[in-house]
Amino acid sequence: MAAPKKVAAPKKAVAPKRAAKTSAPPKAVAGKTSASGTPAKATVTKTSASSAPAKTTTRKPTPAKKTAPAKKAAPAAVTPAKAASAKAAPTKITPAKPPRNESHTALVRRARRINRELGEVYPYAHPELDFENPFQLVVATVLSAQTTDLRVNQTTPALFGKYPTPEDLAAANPEEVEEILRPTGFFRAKTKSVIGLSKALRDDFGGEVPGRLEDLVKLPGVGRKTAFVVLGNAFGRPGITVDTHFQRLVRRWQWTDATEPDKIEAAIGGLFPKSEWTMLSHHVIFHGRRICHARKPACGACPIAPLCPAYGEGETDPEKAQKLLKYEKGGFPGQRLNPPQSYLDAGGIPAPPLGAAIPSAPAPGASAPGAPAPASAGPAPGSPAREAG
Ligand code: SF4
Repeated sequence: MAAPKKVAAPKKAVAPKRAAKTSAPPKAVAGKTSASGTPAKATVTKTSASSAPAKTTTRKPTPAKKTAPAKKAAPAAVTPAKAASAKAAPTKITPAKPPRNESHTALVRRARRINRELGEVYPYAHPELDFENPFQLVVATVLSAQTTDLRVNQTTPALFGKYPTPEDLAAANPEEVEEILRPTGFFRAKTKSVIGLSKALRDDFGGEVPGRLEDLVKLPGVGRKTAFVVLGNAFGRPGITVDTHFQRLVRRWQWTDATEPDKIEAAIGGLFPKSEWTMLSHHVIFHGRRICHARKPACGACPIAPLCPAYGEGETDPEKAQKLLKYEKGGFPGQRLNPPQSYLDAGGIPAPPLGAAIPSAPAPGASAPGAPAPASAGPAPGSPAREAG
C-alpha cells in the first residue's frame, strides 16, 4: 500500500495567489475577484485539508518563495475565457512586446484579436446615449460635447418630452430650451445648435434625419464623429467613432501613430471589415471608459493585458487596479437611464434620473471614488461620468 505521499504543497503557492488576484473576471463586478483572490497561505491550508495526509497539515509552508517580486511586467493570464475560472491553474503570460517592424498583416491579426477579446468582455457594448429615433440621437450626440453621456441622458427626457419632433424644436423659444439644457454646460451654444439643426431638418430634409454622411455633416453642430454615431446606431451603416477614448486606446495598442481623427479613422478602418466598425467603436470606447482610463489605466485588472504593448502604463497591482474599474465593471450604474436589455442581463444598472439618488450601492470591493456623484451635484472629479466624455 502506498504510504501517503508527502504532499508537495507550497512549492507553487505563489502562483495561484497572483493568478487569482489578477484574473479580473470580465463580467464580474469588483469584489468577486477579491473574494476569490485568497491569499497564498489560505490556499495551502485548503489543499492540505482536502488532499488528506494529516502529516501535511502540520507542515510549515515554506515561506512562499519570494519569487522575484513579480516583475511588474508579468500579468497573469486574464483572457476573458480563462478569467471565468479563477481557480484554474495559473498561466504565466508575458505582455505583448511593442511590435517592431510589424507587417500590415500581423497588425491586422493583432488588432482583430484584441477586438475579439473585447467583444467577449463587453458583449453588451452599445451607444451610451438614450434615444428612440434618429432625431433624438443626433440631438443627444450634439449635446454630449464637453459633458458626459450620463448628463445628456438625464437632460434629454425633459427636452424630448416638450419638443418631440424637429418641427417642435425648430419653433421653440430659445430661452426655454436653454433652461432645459443648462445641466449639460455650454447650454447657450448647444441651444443654438439643436434649434439650428432642427430648422435644417425641417426646411431641407422634410423633418427627417438624413442617412448619408455628406448630408449629416451639413447640419449645424454635426461633424464627422457625430455623423458616424448617427449612421452606425440609428441607420445601421458602419462607422468608426473616433472620440477621445478611441484615440488614446488605439495609440496605446500601437494600431496607428496618427494623431488626427480623420487619419486615425482611415488607418483603423483599414484594419477591420466595414461590418465591424460600429461594434469595434463601442468595444474600444467601453474599454476606455471602464478600464483603460486616460490617467490611470487599470492594467492589473485588464482582461486584454497579455495582448497590450502598453501594459504597465497604469496600475499593475491587481487589487488596486480592481478599485479603478468603473460602471458595471466596478459595480456602479451605467450612463443610460434606459440601457439595452443585454446590459441589464449582464448585471448592468441603469443610471438614475436627474436629481435622483444612486439606485444601488457599489458591489463589495468596489471603490467609492469611482462612483458617480449624485446627479444634482454634477460629476465628481474622478467619477466615471467625469472621464467618460
Ligand atoms: S488597461 Fe493597461 S493593459 Fe489594459 S489596454 Fe489599457 S494600457 Fe493596456
